Amino acid sequence: MSIRDKIALVSGASRGIGKAIAIALAKEGIHVAVNYISDTAGAEATCREVASFGVRSLAIKADVSDATAVLDMVREVQEKLGGIDILINNAGIVHKATLEELTVEDWDKVMNINLRSAFLLTQACIGHMRQESWGRIINISSVAAQTGGVTSPLYVASKAGMIGLTHSYASLLMKNGITSNAITPALIKTDMVTKDLKLDSAAKIPMGRFGTAEEVAEVAVMLVKNAYITGQTINVNGGWYFS
Ligand code: NAP
Repeated sequence: MSIRDKIALVSGASRGIGKAIAIALAKEGIHVAVNYISDTAGAEATCREVASFGVRSLAIKADVSDATAVLDMVREVQEKLGGIDILINNAGIVHKATLEELTVEDWDKVMNINLRSAFLLTQACIGHMRQESWGRIINISSVAAQTGGVTSPLYVASKAGMIGLTHSYASLLMKNGITSNAITPALIKTDMVTKDLKLDSAAKIPMGRFGTAEEVAEVAVMLVKNAYITGQTINVNGGWYFS
């Protein structure tokens, strides 16, 4: 079945991995809603690149951890582009702290942006996917969920939670033509790695180099095209972790 003219929502697509996925989907003829929280110029730049492939795009500002904002965003995408067939739960923040330093406020913030968002967005999009008997849910988790990572227990728990959601959605939705998979990247040269984590060396990565956002996006496109892979976690990690 062709994926041309499907409609995707990519959360956190103003930059980094989300931006690369939005552009890669557009190259396949998919119309893309580009979500962001603060970087309007970045989201508009993503939209221009998306539109250059002859598909429709929509920049849409919404905090994916906010239930009302998510419902409003999904409604607006449905009105302006159409029902969402492909959901990429990508928006996320990293949090680096020791176990002793972590606060309850940190817990709520990171869990809500990284994990609650993947529940809220999926719940808001699932009606249309069921109606069409076709859908793709891709959760951008992290190698941190598999190895413990270099960040904090909180980030690790949020990303491990996404893998749990991936399994649950796969079990619940496979009879409806809807697949659910996770991608676990590391380490991809984006703001999250260079500015937030301040990692400037690839020495820890077995392949000896950072990955590119485009290398993650290629896997997202493969998962959108494939109808028989579900409930899987695909590692894009330069040899960091084998499974
Ligand atoms: P990034 O460059 O920091 O981009 C983060 C994106 O998320 C931005 O578009 C940002 O929007 C958006 N965002 C943040 N909070 C949001 C909120 N509350 N509501 C809506 N959008 C929000 O990060 P990245 O490296 O591309 O990471 C993308 C995903 O991959 C994240 O989930 C991350 O945990 C995961 N990941 C990344 C790596 C890596 O090596 N880079 C490794 C493993 C997993 P604004 O631009 O408007 O702020």
